[in-house]
Parts: sequence; C-alpha cells; structure tokens
Amino acid sequence: MDPRRDLPSIEQVVAAMKDDDLPRTLLVQCARQAVDDARDQVGPGDQPIEFNDLVEVADANAQSIAAALLRPLINATGVLIHTNLGRAPLGAETFSAVRAVATGYSNLEYEVADGSRGSRHAHAGQLLARACGAEAGIVVNNNAAAVLLVLGALARGREVVVSRGELVEIGGGFRVPEIMEESGCQLVEVGTTNKTRLADYSTKISESTALVLKVHSSNYRMIGFTEATSVEELATLGPTVVVDAGSGLLDSTTPWLEHRPSWLADEPGVRQAIDAGAGVVTFSGDKLLGGPQSGVIVGSTSLITQIASHPLARAMRADKITLALLQQVALTYLAGEARALPLWRMATISVEELRVRAEKIATQVDGAKVIDTEAVGGGGSLPGLTIPSIGVALEGTGKESERRAAHLRAESVVARVGDDGVICDLRTVDPSDDEHLAQTLTRASTR
Ligand SMILES: *Cc1c(COP(=O)(O)O)cnc(C)c1O
Repeated sequence: MDPRRDLPSIEQVVAAMKDDDLPRTLLVQCARQAVDDARDQVGPGDQPIEFNDLVEVADANAQSIAAALLRPLINATGVLIHTNLGRAPLGAETFSAVRAVATGYSNLEYEVADGSRGSRHAHAGQLLARACGAEAGIVVNNNAAAVLLVLGALARGREVVVSRGELVEIGGGFRVPEIMEESGCQLVEVGTTNKTRLADYSTKISESTALVLKVHSSNYRMIGFTEATSVEELATLGPTVVVDAGSGLLDSTTPWLEHRPSWLADEPGVRQAIDAGAGVVTFSGDKLLGGPQSGVIVGSTSLITQIASHPLARAMRADKITLALLQQVALTYLAGEARALPLWRMATISVEELRVRAEKIATQVDGAKVIDTEAVGGGGSLPGLTIPSIGVALEGTGKESERRAAHLRAESVVARVGDDGVICDLRTVDPSDDEHLAQTLTRASTR
C-alpha cells in the first residue's frame, strides 16, 4: 500500500481548515504545502496519513501567515520611540487631516494658481523649515537617506571633516564612516574619541574640504574627561557645517510645552543648530519630532536647492501620505500645540496621573503591584537618560515571568521582563488601552 495514493484533495483540506480571515488563495496555498510536504515524507509501505494531521499542518501554515500581518500592539515597555514597535505613534487628529489628501488627488506637485508644475517640497519641507527657523527644507524617506543625500550632493569626491568621537553606528547598520564612503566623500578624522577641539578641525581644513560634519551621539553618552566643539565654533572655520541632529528635537527650549522636562538634559535642538550657523541640519521625522518615518533636511535656500536637484533626491523622495502627515505635524508645532502629539503627550504625562491609572489596573488584577519605573526615549534619542514613570508588575520567578510575558504578547501587549517580574510601564500605554491591559494581566497572572 502506498499512502500517497490516499492523500486528500486540496479542496477537502481547505474545507476543513479553521477560518483565519485570510484570502482563499492563501488558504489553498497553505493546504497545498501541507499535502506536498506529506507526499514527500512517506513512501510505499508507510502508515497512512491522518486527514486531521494534514489539516493541522495546513492550519499552522495559515497561522504563521496571519501572525506576520502588520497589526497594532500595545507598547508597555516604557520605550517611547521603540524602533521595533514602529517608533512614534501618530495621533488621530494628524490622520484625519490627511485623509482627504491621501484618498484623492492633490496639489502634490501642482501650482493651482497657474496650472503649472509645482514642487512636492513646497508643503511639509517648507513648513518644517519655518518651524525651526531655517530658510528651506525638503523631506526624504528617513534620516539615513537624508545624510547620504546631503553628503552626496554637497561633498562627492571631496573631503568631509568629522570628529573621531562622532564616527558612530546609529543602529540597523547605519555607520557614519560607511555612509561617507557610500556617498563618495573622503572622510577626514580629527581629534580623539573623547576630546576634539576647534584647533583639531582647523589644522585639517584645506582647499579640498567640502564640509564639516557634526553627528549627534544619539545612542550613547560619553562621560568623564570629554570635550566637543560646538556648532557655533565649527561655523567659524569656513566650510559649510552639516549637523546630523538625529532625534529631531525641533527646539531645545521646547516652547510647545509648559515646562522644559528636566530629562531632556542637553539634547540638542534643530533650531539651535541653525541659529548657531549650521548650513544644513538633518533629522528623523519619527523620533522626537513625533511624526511619520521620514528624513528632514533644512538649511539655507542655496544649499537645499542644490540638495533637492541631486539625482539621488528623486530616488529618496517621500510619498504624499508621509508629506501630508508631516505637514500636519509641522502645523501643530507652528500652532504651539505640539504637546498634543502622542509622543509629547506620553512623554510629559505626570507621574501622579500614571499612578492613578496603575492603581486602578492593579485593583483589578490579583497579585499586581504598582511600582516606580524608568521610561526611556529609545530609538536613538536621549542616550542614558530616563523619564520617571509608573508600572504595574506581576512578581514571579524568571520562568513565570517569561511565560506571562508570552501570554501578554499573544494578546498584543509587549511588556518588559525585569529582575523580579513582568512590568507594564504605563507611560507608553494609551489610557484607552488600560481596560484591555487589566484584563490581559488578569489572564496572564494565572499562568
Ligand atoms: C536615528 C539616527 C539616524 C538614522 O535615522 P533614520 O530616520 O532611522 O534613518 C541617523 N543619524 C542619527 C544621529 C540618528 O540619531
């Protein structure tokens, strides 16, 4: 007997599968895969293949497709700009303002007044420039692209002077020396890892110098015997100063907040870099700006025009949805209302308010405790700095905590596992998710 002869039809398997809300085409592919695998695994004389086992394999195939679908999660890690969880969340207000543009046609590259061709840089880029006191601005897909474009457009085949203390790897393989090479510039290192003075730069400036580059140390902090040169000093050297500001704190004095949070410490602002004489500043749209993934390039009109007309700019241009979202974010800053952006709302919510929410959750969950925690900026911002926060903890052994964290993940909650339990930091949780969090924690507590 050859069990391969008795294999069910694909159709029979599909009919018996659980409904995962997946398109039928995918269910058929999952069933076919299960039947094909079964055929490969048996030969003449083997035991017959159980129909139910086949269906189970097909269901598991479908399950793994469903699990990979992009979907919302609750971020209870306390990491505000969590790269793996999509960085800055966007607000409903921001979205409703872009709906009309995204669902229809728009003046993306069109001058309505005379019907001529317009520029996609006229909207969000220009407004963001105004929001930080620069003359002009353009938007590309992310800050890594922004840096690559600026270097390629302004310094190809020439020298770029950088402090040895700033030859960093930002994460996800973005390394300053490699980007430099990729853009066709020649890196000239100056100073030492911990100290770079103005004189270190000036001795390396020559005819071949195109730019002086300053890179924000987004994800690490040097302590002790250190010295860096300010943008103001660098601007006295002559060549254009380019600042990769990374985090995109638009103004270090945070005029959109009632008080400047102390945890911002010495995080540099885009406006301050422009005021100090930087020719060009680049930053991410989805870090401390609180917008969609994008890279913003602001600076003098002549430099921005040169950058925008480089062939690479076409390959990196942002799409209309991103531009519409960023335009709304820029308007929010210009209106002085950026405290309402989800990122700033979460970052500045008071510890007392978080404690009230945590206590309400803890009373619903057996064995849950309210604890003090430390939230962080994350995603290449605020290195080494923490924001006082509040969490709900389920204490337990390492094994229990891992099991509970897995249960929470299965219910779309990503928590932190600490030394003495599972911790849900409320700073990054939207209050409308508190109820779900309480119920999920209740179920997890019995695991
Ligand atoms: C985050 C960061 C980048 C990369 O920006 P993306 O928007 O993630 O591409 C580059 N430089 C600095 C200093 C950064 O902090």
